[in-house]
Amino acid sequence: MKTEICSCQGLDAACKKCFGSGFASVNDDHKAAPKNTATKKEKKKQKFESIVPNNLSELSKSEVDALAIKLITSLDFKSKKQTQLLNAIPFNTTTFRRDFGDKFALLDALETEKQFLRSELLLIDQEIQQKKYNSKFRFKHYFSDKDLDVTSNRQLKTLLRAYKKLKNN
Ligand SMILES: [Zn+2]
Repeated sequence: MKTEICSCQGLDAACKKCFGSGFASVNDDHKAAPKNTATKKEKKKQKFESIVPNNLSELSKSEVDALAIKLITSLDFKSKKQTQLLNAIPFNTTTFRRDFGDKFALLDALETEKQFLRSELLLIDQEIQQKKYNSKFRFKHYFSDKDLDVTSNRQLKTLLRAYKKLKNN
């Protein structure tokens, strides 16, 4: 048995595969079989489905607003999961990168998806500006508009500290 990042990314607390941890056990049945690099590559470069329709300019204000809220809620949710993961990593040890590689992998997967969601939100934002709608939305999580460099310990620690400070005020 080995673990892999669950399709729900740990965002579903009631998930039957990972129970909200974000890591699901998989049967390592294909150990003997040669690794198919093509499918491996495909898996890594996952495609996200856009929720912004091609006819965005034909949508009503309330429809555009609803899309914005949906994207922001999703960004907030994924950001929350990222802080939970960061809180579970003992940055004061010397081997946390090695010991918690799966958590960093999940952090990275969440970050990639957040980048996609932000690009979607940018389209919505442009539409709102073009139509001069007076829509104002705000992120509810500190990480939602932050770019996380998952390879940088320093940046992650700094962001987590700022988040905690904000939360405790
Ligand atoms: Zn799951």
